[in-house]
Amino acid sequence: MTTPALQYCIGSSSLGGLQWVDCGDRADEFIAKAMAVHGATREGVMALIAKGPKSARYHTDWYAYLRDKARGEAADAIARDRAASARRQQQTTLCRKCGQHLPTSRFTTLPASAQTCDDCV
Ligand SMILES: [Zn+2]
Repeated sequence: MTTPALQYCIGSSSLGGLQWVDCGDRADEFIAKAMAVHGATREGVMALIAKGPKSARYHTDWYAYLRDKARGEAADAIARDRAASARRQQQTTLCRKCGQHLPTSRFTTLPASAQTCDDCV
């Protein structure tokens, strides 16, 4: 059984998410720690890691999680995309005439309450 690349969490990042570091050559060391925390076999720990990023712990501290690097980074990318598109949505206004979501800066001709973009005025 091959071990997937793992990452361990070192706490929260400045952006509010969790900060992950590659286990690299120390994967076995972290798996051994997780086996001790969970009282599980290596297979048991790998099954926990497969369940999700907050299932396996290498320590009793709240943030001390282990995760599958590839799956974790894929999930991070999805979360980042969602946050970015949520930000874009917030900064645009729907033009009542052309039906397009446009940056708020394109609604300068009429008062904001009119919600008709400059192209449609
Ligand atoms: Zn328009």
